[in-house]
Amino acid sequence: MKTQIPTPDTHQEMREALRGLCGRFDSAYWQKVDHERGYPEAFVNALTDAGWLAALIPADYGGSGLGLTEASVIMEEINLSGGNAGSCHGQMYNMGTLLRHGSEAQKRHYLPKIATGELRLQTMAVTEPTTGTDTTQLKTTAVRKGDRYVVNGQKVWISRIQHSDLMILLARTTPLAEVKKKSEGMSIFIVDLKQAIGKGTAVGQPQDAKAPPGGREDTSVPSAGAMVVRPILNMVNHETNEVFFDNLEIPAENLIGEEGKGFKYILDGLNAERTLIAAECIGDAWWFIDRARRYASERQVFGRAIGQNQGIQFPIAADYIETEAANLMRFKACALFDAGQPCGAEANMAKYLAAKASWEAANNCLQTHGGFGFACEYDVERKFRETRLYQVAPISTNLIYSYVAEHLLGLPRSF
Ligand SMILES: Cc1cc2nc3c(=O)[nH]c(=O)nc-3n(C[C@H](O)[C@H](O)[C@H](O)COP(=O)(O)OP(=O)(O)OC[C@H]3O[C@@H](n4cnc5c(N)ncnc54)[C@H](O)[C@@H]3O)c2cc1C
Repeated sequence: MKTQIPTPDTHQEMREALRGLCGRFDSAYWQKVDHERGYPEAFVNALTDAGWLAALIPADYGGSGLGLTEASVIMEEINLSGGNAGSCHGQMYNMGTLLRHGSEAQKRHYLPKIATGELRLQTMAVTEPTTGTDTTQLKTTAVRKGDRYVVNGQKVWISRIQHSDLMILLARTTPLAEVKKKSEGMSIFIVDLKQAIGKGTAVGQPQDAKAPPGGREDTSVPSAGAMVVRPILNMVNHETNEVFFDNLEIPAENLIGEEGKGFKYILDGLNAERTLIAAECIGDAWWFIDRARRYASERQVFGRAIGQNQGIQFPIAADYIETEAANLMRFKACALFDAGQPCGAEANMAKYLAAKASWEAANNCLQTHGGFGFACEYDVERKFRETRLYQVAPISTNLIYSYVAEHLLGLPRSF
């Protein structure tokens, strides 16, 4: 009988090292961070110091030059240990944007500092309150004025901004009415957050992100500074914010790649993001399955282990099957990405399958624990909340169906 959750027997050396590091941050650590709505600073620092967050940075720029496959193993192991890679996964995929599309000067300037941990690149600002998933309609503008771009607009759900030094920003540089295709005319920039927030503006008070249908444009924010950041209290301990730009000036040299091609660059990065999130979900799923399996074996009710009842063991067995299947698609997406081949379909499908597997495993794990599933000390309720997010962000399930229907099945485009 298997007594361990058989995570794939690849990358064993890496996994051992990661387990050693993650093992220093136990359940009590993550519970404390969650209860205090804090940021796992010590954990992220340890991960950085050990070089794991520089996995995707080529050796020439101070990193270890590993592929997305290895990066995904890092994310998986964090979640499998009971932690939450959502606190630091941004660095992995944001770095890819800089790596693939940044100039040599930008790479030389930023990457070695990111590799050592001197700078964090944890933030990407795409989503807006009034446009949501319909990214090409975004309203934030960046207008070139001499050697600078002046940014005005609003973003929402921008994560880890208070624990990052740099942010990748998507803004429209050519008005929608003047471009042939709506996906053209947007650009990406690297924003120095300390400089931007430091210009007389501070991080505001937390507030909910209530928006009327169609989203809200907030006109109540004083236009006193370059950038205002307002934290959004949310269901998980995920540091995320509304951001308001009021004539924020960015040096023109901070434009990444060519002006007007930003949307294409962001899409490239999203495949990496989706695949990494899939790996986190798989880590979560193994964690839930393992906890459910152990509890079901130990908990005695009606004079026998509850796991002896098929009503308890079948859902856990189903979760195992679904997770193994999702895992295959995750490694397929990683392999294609690392080979420089198109992987949009596989990245989307891996994210879909893994998020579904982890959510079902979460639900069954909570059910298996009965009332104790709700007790914070078991971690189940925390991980349950954390893994639920991935049905919605960074891309919602419906949008994946839509991608598959249109791009793989040739069905009519619906939007
Ligand atoms: C905790 C958290 C952290 C986040 N971090 C970041 C971040 O760091 N940076 C960033 O840029 N964004 C971030 N996001 C935003 C996230 O990417 C979006 O929430 C997500 O893409 C969905 O967009 P939306 O919330 O505007 O939903 P909407 O676009 O308003 O959609 C609402 C619902 O309608 C559905 N829907 C919309 N259109 C269609 C359609 N045509 N057909 C069928 N269904 C449809 C969607 O699937 C969804 O279920 C974060 C979100 C959360 C909750």
